Amino acid sequence: MSDNIRLRFAPSPTGPLHIGGLRTALYNYLISKKSKGKFILRIEDTDLKRYNKKAEKHILDSLKWCGISPDESPEKPGNYGPYRQSERKNIYKKFIAILIKSGNAYFAFDKKEKLEEKRKKCEKNGETFIYNWHNRLKFNNSLSIRNEKTKKLTQNNNYVVRFKTVHSGKSKNMITVNDEIRGKIQVDLNNLDDKIICKSDGMPTYHLANVVDDYLMKITHVIRGEEWLPSLALHCQLYNAFGWEKPKFAHLPLILKPTGTGKLSKRDGEKYGFPVYPIKWKDESKKSEIKGFKELGYESKALINFICFIGWNPGNENEILSLNELIENFSINRIIKSGAKYDIEKAKWFNQSYVRKLPNKTFKIILENKINISQLNSERINKIIELLKERLTFKNDILIESNNILEEPKNLDKNFINKEWSKDLNNVIIELNRYIKENHLIKPEKIKDYYLNQLKNNNIKIGIGMQALRLCIIGKISGPDLFIIIEILGNSKINKRISKTLNKIND
Ligand code: GLU
Repeated sequence: MSDNIRLRFAPSPTGPLHIGGLRTALYNYLISKKSKGKFILRIEDTDLKRYNKKAEKHILDSLKWCGISPDESPEKPGNYGPYRQSERKNIYKKFIAILIKSGNAYFAFDKKEKLEEKRKKCEKNGETFIYNWHNRLKFNNSLSIRNEKTKKLTQNNNYVVRFKTVHSGKSKNMITVNDEIRGKIQVDLNNLDDKIICKSDGMPTYHLANVVDDYLMKITHVIRGEEWLPSLALHCQLYNAFGWEKPKFAHLPLILKPTGTGKLSKRDGEKYGFPVYPIKWKDESKKSEIKGFKELGYESKALINFICFIGWNPGNENEILSLNELIENFSINRIIKSGAKYDIEKAKWFNQSYVRKLPNKTFKIILENKINISQLNSERINKIIELLKERLTFKNDILIESNNILEEPKNLDKNFINKEWSKDLNNVIIELNRYIKENHLIKPEKIKDYYLNQLKNNNIKIGIGMQALRLCIIGKISGPDLFIIIEILGNSKINKRISKTLNKIND
């Protein structure tokens, strides 16, 4: 494929970027990069009432944190700007005029209240209110009233412009639209609304601006959320009315709640206690800050890998794929049609895999900033990092995990002591401690051999014996490799800890 492939992410900055939006951005990014094309960020801010500056910043910062950087955007304009719809008003005006002139759009002067009344009446009767070919002449618009009057009314600037849906005169008016994920879809144009394409404030609506911009920005693939599928027929009608070639369309399946029922909503984050935003979001109305994946300690690379797999897979066993590998492997035809469940445990699993691959230096910095590791030389610090790295879900967990080893145990597992502690076991540990003290340069393997032998001679189960020794050193009966812990702490510390624990137990 070529340079001419152009995809865009076109968020409306009315709220923070959630995981679904990030996935849409990512898929667009991956396809554009795989095709050596361009990825464009266009800000769709035609709804001035709902525009939220902070939301726009949240979107940009989130993409930045995730490493999804656009080739063209409001911050990095290319040849097809402006990249913010509120700055393109004049462009839309021109195209709205073209549609009016060609008879594909018309002025409508109906009072909002009157339409609302009609809508309510329909709802009462269990019907949907549609403003289109079947009733448009009964309303107050440039199709139903005389030219001179229309002229006068338009001068007042108090009108909207509606798209005139095609009507064949037949009882059914089926067209076929194509979706790259779902295939061919049949739509009856007779049921489409004459959608407003220009609002009374002179701003275009999403539908018009979106189609005009995709055309002018030479977008080749429109990849967006499933919620826009019902608009596809209208968008295709707009392309036809302008006589433009359509891009390819793909509507992404929903991300479902963890229960698998219904769309994952922003509120589910609070309800289930998991992140739904890449980075933190401060909700002004609630005055509370909601943590994102970043603040909760996730690696951005893990997040990208995780969300890419919600609704897509490469068709083989490989799950840990870097951004470059995702680019290489990604294809629209492996996107699944049905909704995919949001599983935060899977996100943690991805994170763990990425944390394991982090260089020791990263952990060293975390440790140096928070705990006193001056007592350990660099070889021991590396040993502790190597020992713990495999077990961490989040990189900062290394602090708690290393404290569990480096600090003397505060609490001992009482359950184990009550259930399993015996005189023989106590004696074997006393004996081991004496052995270590007398041979203070002895290596952990030798300590292990000696201990196992003693356990055997005293008929003590190896499992119980190991748990007991671990309890003497770190207070718990499970954890990372005990003999590496012994090596890290050194024999004299081990001696002290065992003595202290035995004293506590035998007090
Ligand atoms: N502004 C729309 C949104 O935020 C874009 C939909 C599209 O990609 O066409 O969802």
